[in-house]
Amino acid sequence: MKPAPFDYCAPATVAEAIEALGSDESSRVLAGGQSLIPTMNFRLTDISLLVDIGNVAGLDAIDADDSGVRVGATATQSRVLNDDAAAVAVPGLRAALAHVGHLAIRNRGTVCGSIAHADPAAELPALAVATDAVITIAGPDGTRRVDAADFYLGPFWTALADGELVTEVRFGASRAGSVTVVDEISRRAGDFALAGLVAIFDTDSGSVRSARLVGFGIGSVPKRLAAAEAAISGWAADHPDGGLFDAAIEDAAGALDDIHASGRYRREVLAAMVVRAARDVLAQPESR
Ligand SMILES: Cc1cc2nc3c(=O)[nH]c(=O)nc-3n(C[C@H](O)[C@H](O)[C@H](O)COP(=O)(O)OP(=O)(O)OC[C@H]3O[C@@H](n4cnc5c(N)ncnc54)[C@H](O)[C@@H]3O)c2cc1C
Repeated sequence: MKPAPFDYCAPATVAEAIEALGSDESSRVLAGGQSLIPTMNFRLTDISLLVDIGNVAGLDAIDADDSGVRVGATATQSRVLNDDAAAVAVPGLRAALAHVGHLAIRNRGTVCGSIAHADPAAELPALAVATDAVITIAGPDGTRRVDAADFYLGPFWTALADGELVTEVRFGASRAGSVTVVDEISRRAGDFALAGLVAIFDTDSGSVRSARLVGFGIGSVPKRLAAAEAAISGWAADHPDGGLFDAAIEDAAGALDDIHASGRYRREVLAAMVVRAARDVLAQPESR
């Protein structure tokens, strides 16, 4: 199908983009178009003005330092995936992006577009929650910053108000010595996850000191696995599970039940991924 008729503009500055977004009630930001254009082609969204931010100056930065990685709104997923400094500061970026769609999608799709789109099965929102990312939003009333933990309100629903624009996201740096694992189960490589996990482990002498665990594809927003995080503290490789599987099952209670997979399947796959990730990390010589 073809999209319904719409107007298009390509502003050169953030101020112009915000003005354009405010000029039409049914305006929408166009970034890489990899999620938006298909929904327009299927006529699932009613948009009368597309504000293409591709030409907006100053939004293409990828800056990595000791505190994390700042990614501007027009930086593509491929550019971030291939940025060595970003992979050192936040290893989860490369690990997560390797699961996102296919090369052609990552060449056009943006990191901030995925953050703003808020697909519950997407990898980057979960990474944002796991790394305490901060999202910078520009709008008619100025600029504000929102923690990723407060940004996701529901499926495809965020703290963004009409007329606002994500200008950058800053992913928090991993602690020295921590290990990040991004794992997921999907029907085919490149498909959205049926269930996925972002895990950041701190290990000490062959056991897990602490871990940040975030599930995706199981509910309406990325979910911290609080019970599993508590159960994993002090966990060792030869540990006979120690309730970790059951704790993750508890965290995933109410997992999405749809035509792609049952809630029970999602819960059990997620719990198995948590146990597998912990065992794999502790099997690495650096963790001993
Ligand atoms: C076949 C296929 C497979 C895919 N597989 C995966 C996958 O496995 N995992 C995954 O995470 N994604 C997947 N995607 C989606 C892809 O990663 C998109 O690139 C991403 O979801 C959106 O980024 P974009 O730059 O293309 O945004 P767009 O499509 O341009 O925009 C998406 C939405 O976000 C809004 N938006 C975009 N940028 C901003 C901004 N700066 N400020 C405010 N709002 C903004 C738009 O208005 C729109 O509502 C897949 C897509 C396809 C077509």
